[in-house]
Amino acid sequence: LGLIISNYKVHDCGDIQPLNQHQEDELDSKLLYAESIKTGLKNGDIFPYYQPVLTSDGQKLHGVEALARWEHPEKGLVPPIDFIDHAEEYDFIDWLDEVICRRACEDMKQLMDLTGKKFMLSVNISAVHIRKKDFAQRIETILHETGFPANYLSIEITETSLIENLKDVAVTFQHLKSLGVKISIDDFGTTYSSLNYLKYLPVDTIKLDKAFIHDVDKSPIDRRICKTIIQLGCDLNLDVIAEGVESTKHLTIIRDFGCDIYQGYYFSKPLTLEGWKDYLEQF
Ligand code: C2E
Ligand code: MG
Ligand code: MG
Ligand code: MG
Repeated sequence: LGLIISNYKVHDCGDIQPLNQHQEDELDSKLLYAESIKTGLKNGDIFPYYQPVLTSDGQKLHGVEALARWEHPEKGLVPPIDFIDHAEEYDFIDWLDEVICRRACEDMKQLMDLTGKKFMLSVNISAVHIRKKDFAQRIETILHETGFPANYLSIEITETSLIENLKDVAVTFQHLKSLGVKISIDDFGTTYSSLNYLKYLPVDTIKLDKAFIHDVDKSPIDRRICKTIIQLGCDLNLDVIAEGVESTKHLTIIRDFGCDIYQGYYFSKPLTLEGWKDYLEQF
């Protein structure tokens, strides 16, 4: 552990050591990679795919989640697991989140106008980004510039690092709420602050992590966890969305626990904009 400052490593104990050749090479290649992600952002090669969110046993549309993809000129389609962490580490996750949010608002506004259909749009916002003071203002600007209706936008807090001062970010969230924007807790149950979010933030929705759904048909403990989280959501008057629903078995068990909003491969994988337009036609 420690901090790397221009080719020196500062250890937690305060010692400073130059990097060895291997460490320097590693640092160089990470920096290069971060630069290539930025280039991807500049060139519009990073954009959203759309995964449907269903309700009423999958009969009705609830909304859609925008999920970042990188159409790399050589590597092909790169999933977010291969670039979100870097964007956080090199401090441009706010830019990435905004690119995805803006594009999704533009696309969905256009689609809503074209079809006359209304549905929720969820975007992922990193906890690293949420800590920044002007975060709510930036979302407000995107809504204003794209014309997307605020009350159909849901911000999913995706947490890879701890937000120490939830009371401070609560102000940011009050600002968003006043615009009509909804707040979701992503990967509920697996992140540091799941329960604290409920205590301090004006949350509307929790997304039950797919890790609990995956074995819900086989594992009694996972079943109990799902049941309890769904119950908690009901008690607090929140929507509960089950992520990672892959089979009828998953669907039946979760539905019997009282959860009626679903997302997962059972219904659809994340789609291109074209694919999502086609999918939307059935509703
Ligand atoms: P997430 O927000 O929890 O999104 C759900 C992830 O589960 C997506 O992975 C989706 O493709 C996947 N998934 C959906 N249904 C199923 C299923 O039935 N089975 C399985 N095994 N997986 C399913 P994806 O697209 O690879 O995204 C991974 C994560 O990357 C997201 O998890 C989110 O935390 C992050 N992410 C994606 N886009 C953005 C973004 O624009 N900004 C930020 N900050 N994070 C993003
Ligand atoms: Mg999400
Ligand atoms: Mg999730
Ligand atoms: Mg996740």
